[in-house]
Amino acid sequence: MTDGQHRGNGSAGPPLANASAGPPLENASAGPHLASRPDERLARFRPVECARCGAMVQVAKFSPQHTSVQWSQASVRACAEFTAWVSAGGQSALIDSCASMRDSIDRAVLQGSVEVFPP
Ligand SMILES: [Zn+2]
Repeated sequence: MTDGQHRGNGSAGPPLANASAGPPLENASAGPHLASRPDERLARFRPVECARCGAMVQVAKFSPQHTSVQWSQASVRACAEFTAWVSAGGQSALIDSCASMRDSIDRAVLQGSVEVFPP
């Protein structure tokens, strides 16, 4: 019986056509998810300007006692107390902040521009 073979071939539909349809919604939701991760860590650091010398530093408070201050090369050079300390032979790594910067950071915390984020 060759008749049966012919019918079988004709009625079988190709299932490959379904694979070409891709859901575009998955791509849209994955994009902002990945981008927000590094931003979350950076968001803990707030720029604080020294009221005396205008140096900008990045400040994060992890607890009322634990303050992390990031000095950039430019802000170290801008700070009058750092410059005086280094030109007197001291090392800038030994001091974490100048006195007026500490006041500026305290004020920024009191004003709420630097929030306390527990690690
Ligand atoms: Zn300063």
